Amino acid sequence: MKRKNVIALISMSLVIYALFAACKPNITEQNTVVAGKGQAKYVFLFIGDGMSMSQISSAEIFSTARSSKDIAVTRLGFSQFPVLGMVTTYDAGTFITDSASAGTSIATGKKTLSGVINMDTGKTQEFKPITEYIHEAGMKVGIVSTVTLNHATPASFYAKAPSRSNYYDIAVQLAKSDFDYYGGGSLLQHAGRNGDQQSAIEIAKANGFTYVDSKDVFNSLKPGAGKVLAISPVLQDDGAMKYEIDRKPGELSIVDYTRKGIELLDNPKGFFFMIEGGKIDWASHANDAGAVIHDVLALDAAINVALDFAKKHPKETLIVVTGDHETGGMTIGFAGTQYETFFDKVALQTRSYVAFDDEVLKPYKAGTPAGAAKLADLLPEIKKSFGIDFDTLTAFQKQQIEFAFQRSMGNEQVRSFAEDIYVLYGGYEPLTVKLTQMMNQSAGIGWTSYSHTGVPVPAFASGAHQEIFGGYYDNTDMYRKLASVMNLKVQ
Ligand SMILES: [Zn+2]
Repeated sequence: MKRKNVIALISMSLVIYALFAACKPNITEQNTVVAGKGQAKYVFLFIGDGMSMSQISSAEIFSTARSSKDIAVTRLGFSQFPVLGMVTTYDAGTFITDSASAGTSIATGKKTLSGVINMDTGKTQEFKPITEYIHEAGMKVGIVSTVTLNHATPASFYAKAPSRSNYYDIAVQLAKSDFDYYGGGSLLQHAGRNGDQQSAIEIAKANGFTYVDSKDVFNSLKPGAGKVLAISPVLQDDGAMKYEIDRKPGELSIVDYTRKGIELLDNPKGFFFMIEGGKIDWASHANDAGAVIHDVLALDAAINVALDFAKKHPKETLIVVTGDHETGGMTIGFAGTQYETFFDKVALQTRSYVAFDDEVLKPYKAGTPAGAAKLADLLPEIKKSFGIDFDTLTAFQKQQIEFAFQRSMGNEQVRSFAEDIYVLYGGYEPLTVKLTQMMNQSAGIGWTSYSHTGVPVPAFASGAHQEIFGGYYDNTDMYRKLASVMNLKVQ
């Protein structure tokens, strides 16, 4: 048989195998098949936190087809990957997972409860993440996140914790780890909840990490730098990197942290590099489609950097792009716009919800005496930030914004409608979330939640052994698939 035919036969068997496997209710051990010989030496795992198809499709529509009459859609780099799978995300306690249990599933192949990182549901037994096997095999390990590096998703690749909120403990585990490159957001509570413990950054330095928090030093890092902990010089909410929509030209981005990571991790034994677009989730929680879309596009740009690397090692590089769950119940289509979309409205947005809070709303509140606040004062900034022209709104829309403004200003009379407040604003600044929702709805984008949802997420794969990532499987299978492509003997 010719080599091509052999490959075709193997691929076909895999497809049949995957179809057969998908029929079984409990998907566990069957995905340890290695497609063909050899090893994926350079493995990229990109995780869009909170990213499912609506976040991805919105970025595609935004990029190429903003008018509802223009139905041309150009794919993102990663949504053109040759292999697509769908991944279930439920955890041991709920159909709607959080990032801790979802990260545990991907990193260890085991289900646990929401909030738990790489431990069993009883929070006594520790699970060994895939990165430890990878490190033992002599490959380097890199971890990047746009949110804090001790947040649940990145933590799942180096830590074990009964609670994702044990930020200090997780930061210390990062500091004591022997992985090669950490980059992106800061370490939340690095000196403990009360700031009275030894800084995890100091512990990291003592453990041989080069700590970098300036752009010039970051840019000058060269291969052979040893273990690196690189934190963005510019931080935004809760120590995360800025939203892409708020990032100023020249400020370091997820693309820079990915490019530098490749430079530092590249070695003859190979590497595993997990890169998280963490703020896709945060923006989706806040129902801010503009911030979501710009962060998905930034993740895509980082993936393109990995693709450039793959061109140099086409047979040995694998790139997988997935989400850990969907956030916000985002969809394309809203009752008020029926079959129409107007993504040109999203293009008018110039700030994330966080930047509007920080740069407009908080200073206004601080500088305005009680009782003197007027919505009219903010209308120019509202137009500049979200493209909303108040005068053109319906009476109902104007009333909703006025109501939210009053609540943001602490009007006690408005606060008496408490039972509806969570559904209306989800714990965000009422005015800000009402503005993003209203702009999103007018663009034809709907939201159902301020939390995560239980829909599956896609997994796109390109490169060595890409074919085993096709089909419909569980997030725990992602672990076994990744282990098999790297020839790791895992439990
Ligand atoms: Zn989330």
